[in-house]
Amino acid sequence: MPISEWFHKKGKNSGINPSSEKREIPEGIWSRCAACNEIIFQGELFRNHRVCPKCNYHFPLTPWERINLLIDENTFKEFNPHLCSKDPLEFVAAKSYLESLSQARERTGLDEAVVTGEGQLNGHKVILGVMDFRFVGGSMGSVVGEKITRIVEKAEKEGIPLITVSASGGARMQEGMLSLAQMAKTSAALARLHEARVSYIAILTHPTTGGVAASFAMLGDVIISEPRALIGFAGPRVIEKTMKQKLPRGFQTAEFLLEHGMIDMVVPRWELKSTISKLLEFFTG
Ligand SMILES: [Zn+2]
Repeated sequence: MPISEWFHKKGKNSGINPSSEKREIPEGIWSRCAACNEIIFQGELFRNHRVCPKCNYHFPLTPWERINLLIDENTFKEFNPHLCSKDPLEFVAAKSYLESLSQARERTGLDEAVVTGEGQLNGHKVILGVMDFRFVGGSMGSVVGEKITRIVEKAEKEGIPLITVSASGGARMQEGMLSLAQMAKTSAALARLHEARVSYIAILTHPTTGGVAASFAMLGDVIISEPRALIGFAGPRVIEKTMKQKLPRGFQTAEFLLEHGMIDMVVPRWELKSTISKLLEFFTG
């Protein structure tokens, strides 16, 4: 299978109804819920923070929608918006890496798969990194790793709480070892942040997998997930084949991970800002 298709594959646990892709509806006014198939007026969806009013399915948010949800109006200042990846391995699969990057830039209006910056959350100063799954599957290459490391180091230096919002298929394989090295780099920076006793809240959204789940996304002092998000390292089929046993129902969902102590909370989107605000009040006294 070409590498580009890895990120479009929908797992059995994703909560997404495959039949939803077949029927077409006019774009712009109505959206179809990927979980319950209901047709929803976009205005209603917008007012509901892009959560399905029928079944509570959480539609993906763009980084700017997420920043608007969490950060007080007109307080966000972006860092390093134009840091962008090179193609050190001159990688070509079904299409070249440079072509994937250029399509992702066009699709998202971003130069990379993470937006970082600082702002206020209910008056608390925070440093924030928000990933975009639409950008090469939200994969972590050298630039995503560098931008995350820079915000961790800034949080440490200035003693400002750090928040990350993950959505990722894992390491960016088109950058080979250079992408894998970002797991160690971000984790080492977070170890220094922990030593400096600066709070770090990690928010996981659907899906958070691979090298991002295996590094900064799961290293928060508090780890919060949105409901029904797929969270894991390898996909369920790979695990089943390796372990030669059937996986339990709901495996790799946020709710399953909460039950088994891997994460601290599952919080619906409309309560996310107030929950983080309470945590920041608790941590900062
Ligand atoms: Zn729904």
